[in-house]
Amino acid sequence: MEHTTPTKEPFRPNTPQGLGQDASHVRKVARVAEQLGKRRSTAPLSRQKRGVSHQVPKVRDKKHSDEKVNLLDFDQVIEIDVERRICIAEPGVPFCKLVDQTLPLGLVPIVVPELKTITIGGAVAGCSIESMSFQHGGFHDTCLEYEIITASGDVLTCTPDNEHSLIFQMMHGSFGTVGILSRLVFRLVPAKPYVHLRHEKHTSIDSYLESIWSHYERRDVEFMDGIIHSNTQLSLCVGEFVDSAPYTNRYDWLKVYYQSTAKRHEDYFKTPHYFFRYDQGVTNVHPKSFLGRLLLGKFLGSTEILKLAEKLRWWVLNDDRPDVTVDTFLPFSKLKEFLLWYAEDFDHFPLWCVPYRRVHDYEWLTDSFWKGMDDELMIDIAIYGMKQRGETNYYRLMEKKLQELNGIKTLISYNYYPEDEFWQIFNRPNFEAVKAITDPNNIFRNLYEKTCQAAMGQ
Ligand SMILES: Cc1cc2nc3c(=O)[nH]c(=O)nc-3n(C[C@H](O)[C@H](O)[C@H](O)COP(=O)(O)OP(=O)(O)OC[C@H]3O[C@@H](n4cnc5c(N)ncnc54)[C@H](O)[C@@H]3O)c2cc1C
Repeated sequence: MEHTTPTKEPFRPNTPQGLGQDASHVRKVARVAEQLGKRRSTAPLSRQKRGVSHQVPKVRDKKHSDEKVNLLDFDQVIEIDVERRICIAEPGVPFCKLVDQTLPLGLVPIVVPELKTITIGGAVAGCSIESMSFQHGGFHDTCLEYEIITASGDVLTCTPDNEHSLIFQMMHGSFGTVGILSRLVFRLVPAKPYVHLRHEKHTSIDSYLESIWSHYERRDVEFMDGIIHSNTQLSLCVGEFVDSAPYTNRYDWLKVYYQSTAKRHEDYFKTPHYFFRYDQGVTNVHPKSFLGRLLLGKFLGSTEILKLAEKLRWWVLNDDRPDVTVDTFLPFSKLKEFLLWYAEDFDHFPLWCVPYRRVHDYEWLTDSFWKGMDDELMIDIAIYGMKQRGETNYYRLMEKKLQELNGIKTLISYNYYPEDEFWQIFNRPNFEAVKAITDPNNIFRNLYEKTCQAAMGQ
């Protein structure tokens, strides 16, 4: 798509969609815009938000000592337009709260990431996905408009089609480096009170891939993800919304969802319990033992675990030899080769597998990346909590292999890319074009500095 050069515009309290703005939201935006407008320092600035961050916590992350911009109160749903199936909300709204508000109206966000307190702002800036992604891509792909506060306090309304279209697209996967997302407009879909899921069992990678492709092509299911317990025990979990259920299960205390995918053939959930079925840790559940879950499981969801890890990071984490937690995105055609290599070199199972449709060639990746990509379907393979062995840096090993297979990893965890290699994957000219408008003094850091240097304490 062609992008016009973005220009500055004053803060307008109405959107081109004709959707209203809430007065208290306007006041919050004016407060932040004023703080930024008056700021003279060019030292790095980080966001202060209410919920926990779902970035892999790092001991020496510079964000802890940065000056903060206060976004604590940007956590309200502003409007749900049932007829147009559109929601307007602030970036700090967690998905569990959003689902609580939309589901009674028979609607849900199109992509609901599987952890309760991932926020809609974090989902855009950090590339969240889930089991409807095989149809719709990521949460960003369901968004219609962003309001963005620039480093100098200008407020921009960005849509895929207006003069700020490049800023709109580059906000996705920006990890906060482009500007402050202050309001989002996104689509909703009809939902029902229950979800019926079937766990297909496969004993070979080939039959697993055939089934993923067949569901993808036929669109005969509404949800599709899977757990790869090993390369000879692969579960594909497919399902749809239903009006009623003969029974329901939930996996937020004693029972562990990923284990159920190996044992059960089908399952029923209340819709919110389906969305957040992985909240105790996708494949890295805490507490690990049944007794531990019996005593503490009710109080230790992903939010509490991440909060504790962040607070106690100096004692419980090791930046020099961190466990591997990473999402990798691979072209569908390369998945078999990847899994065979992975079993040899990593051999850490189970893996979470999420098919992801290529709905848009993201502007934050380089043209050369897209030139090497013929697939219309990507697969997210997520590894959680693998202990590194010997001297090998498994993060770096993965970075190199992904480049060979034309895959990428998300930047939520430890990143070891040399700078020139990084910018062969991530689109520096597009970042620079947008930053020239939204953050010319680089107070939000650039993508490499933030995710590969500052996060690692450099
Ligand atoms: C253990 C673990 C499990 C995970 N499991 C899943 C999963 O099941 N499904 C899934 O989709 N994803 C998962 N993720 C990834 C997650 O979706 C992303 O890390 C996401 O960015 C987290 O959003 P958050 O609301 O916690 O935002 P944060 O972690 O607070 O922020 C994420 C990034 O977005 C930026 N950002 C946040 N808000 C704004 C804003 N208002 N304006 C500008 N920039 C902003 C921040 O600066 C930061 O760089 C997981 C991550 C971890 C660590």
